[in-house]
Amino acid sequence: YYDYSGRTAFVTGAASGMGLAAATGFAQAGANLVMVDRNEEALTREAQQLTNAGHRVLPVVCDVSKEVEVEQAVQRAVLEFGSLDAAFNNAGIQANATDLADTSLEDYDVMLSVNLRGVFACMKYQLAQMRKQGSGSIVNNSSLGGFVGVPGRSPYLAAKHGIHGLTKTAGLEYAARGIRVNAVAPGIIDTPMVAGMMQAEKGRLGTPEEVAAAVLWLCSDAASFVVGHVIAVDGGYVAR
Ligand code: NAD
Repeated sequence: YYDYSGRTAFVTGAASGMGLAAATGFAQAGANLVMVDRNEEALTREAQQLTNAGHRVLPVVCDVSKEVEVEQAVQRAVLEFGSLDAAFNNAGIQANATDLADTSLEDYDVMLSVNLRGVFACMKYQLAQMRKQGSGSIVNNSSLGGFVGVPGRSPYLAAKHGIHGLTKTAGLEYAARGIRVNAVAPGIIDTPMVAGMMQAEKGRLGTPEEVAAAVLWLCSDAASFVVGHVIAVDGGYVAR
């Protein structure tokens, strides 16, 4: 629905699920696409597919929990395409459900390092570039777990609630400088992450494309007055 030609879109976790759907959406809307993922094999395969379809794609193998790798990924994006206009900070992991008292601090650290620290690192280097340009739009991927509690998933919930704080604060910090920061909060979406793990309690699962549609809108000029906001894309889950 949108024209991203001449703009550069940077998507983390781009080799699967919602990241791949958003990457595909950006590419089809004409963007220069930077696909970031730590899974080299899947990244190479998916980037090749989009390249074969005629899109301009830069795949970057990067673990978002490693600051240097994130800094280099942003540098490579700007070197290749000249700007950074849209970003979807989506890379994330899930863990087996455990009571908080049975959750190790090591498992907590692993979860937070990817799902919150990784988002912070991406925002830090993306915002530094966008501040130079005086323009840009960032969307973080939260979860319904950023709004409500989910028993057994305290580290994941801590990370996703944290994303809401980062999104609102950075939204306020940068709005006057022509940069918007928002988030999406998907419900249960049919991706490899949830395969065989969760069942939709009520209603159907969402599709990655339904989340990608919200991301493409939020990153576009059509959402020019939307700042520091988290949009639930969950079939009504948190509205109950
Ligand atoms: P997915 O497992 O299909 O894809 C995640 C991608 O992120 C994979 O390609 C993986 O290699 C990559 N990744 C993981 N850790 C990384 C790291 N440290 N550095 C770089 N890349 C990394 O998952 P998905 O379901 O599409 O989830 C994407 C995001 O959506 C996650 O943040 C997740 O928490 C969130 N989310 C998922 C659901 C759901 O129901 N699937 C619901 C709400 C929120």
